[in-house]
Amino acid sequence: MKKYMKILSVNAGSSSLKFQMYEMPEEKVLISGTFERIGIGGGFYTIKLNGEKIKKEKELADHSVAVQTLIDELLENKVIESLDEIKGVGHRIVHGGEKYASSVIINDDVIKTVEELSSLAPLHNPANLIGVRTFMELIPNATQVGCFDTAFHQTMAKREFLYPVPYEWYEKYGVRRYGFHGMSHNYIANRTAEILENPNARIISCHIGNGGSLCAIKDGKSIDTSMGFTPNAGLMMGSRSGDIDCTLIPYIMDKTGESLDEVINDLNKKSGYLGVSGISSDSRDIEDAAAQGNERAILAQDMYVEKIVNYIAEYYLELGGADAIVFTAGVGENSKDTRKAIIDRLAPLGIKIDEEANNVRGEEKLISTEDSTVKVYIIPTDEEVMIARDTFNFINK
Ligand code: AMP
Repeated sequence: MKKYMKILSVNAGSSSLKFQMYEMPEEKVLISGTFERIGIGGGFYTIKLNGEKIKKEKELADHSVAVQTLIDELLENKVIESLDEIKGVGHRIVHGGEKYASSVIINDDVIKTVEELSSLAPLHNPANLIGVRTFMELIPNATQVGCFDTAFHQTMAKREFLYPVPYEWYEKYGVRRYGFHGMSHNYIANRTAEILENPNARIISCHIGNGGSLCAIKDGKSIDTSMGFTPNAGLMMGSRSGDIDCTLIPYIMDKTGESLDEVINDLNKKSGYLGVSGISSDSRDIEDAAAQGNERAILAQDMYVEKIVNYIAEYYLELGGADAIVFTAGVGENSKDTRKAIIDRLAPLGIKIDEEANNVRGEEKLISTEDSTVKVYIIPTDEEVMIARDTFNFINK
């Protein structure tokens, strides 16, 4: 007999908390929402329930207040009758280092390890752990599961993940490429294999949103990805530079008098689309400005596309060809112009876009022509459902 249960999928940041509650195994979303401005004043939260969106102002002194408010809303709206109905809480955790190649049931040892890994993700792991601890305290009977952004990429070969730097940096300090967006690339791997009815498909997953990474997938496994030791590697992004020559850091420090932290901040927050265009980190603004002939917006778009095309070409060779190229995340799902610009550049490989099919937003769709050598899809990503699935699978054993 099938066991039905309610599972919460949680993404806790330092001042925010996003959640979705699923009825599993149906994967039906019962309620979802976001708590914002936790601990910094001016708190509020939004909830989506029965197709309605509600926004409420409430001071959220800390994550405990947010989670307690969430529990109250679940009870008041009769999404649950009692807390015992929530059998599992799955937490998105950014960094699992080399320790976690898959999701894991959270216990004291796991918390200690995630804490130790905070040196690799100082902004994210501590915030994720606040979420874990709060839910463990307030919903103690639920199984808590950690789902790592890095885990999916642990299948990369050493030749792919090592940097050509002194080897002891890797051995002593964990210097290597880890890759991120793992829950998303894993979702794309599963869904594409399902569509193609081929578990061994060679897939190039293009997760391009405000952050962006590409992933080369074979037999359902990540064999390469464009992010690295941190998420500021690989592609040009909304406000991140992606790959640069590291020696420009001391050069800029010397020229501007900025501190190391300030230059790193420039590379994370003032680069990419925003840095090149001087307009915005949002691709919609860049597209509008480019359409009006703004030269730097056009340049930013060209550079953005160029980096993605280069990675697709690299992964095409690495995979020995490709069965599918998939676009996902904010830009990938919504920007027909960006998709077309990328696929047009792949013409030498016989890859062709169907412009009419491409004229959609946020919808799962085949957008290549019938005679294209590689199928091209838009597949909206769903990181939350991956967290819910992993959590459910632990409990349903
Ligand atoms: P994400 O990080 O996946 O939430 O993606 C957010 C980004 O997607 C935004 O910053 C925009 O650059 C981009 N985006 C969202 N909607 C559109 C759209 N309709 N056209 C172009 N880009 C979009």
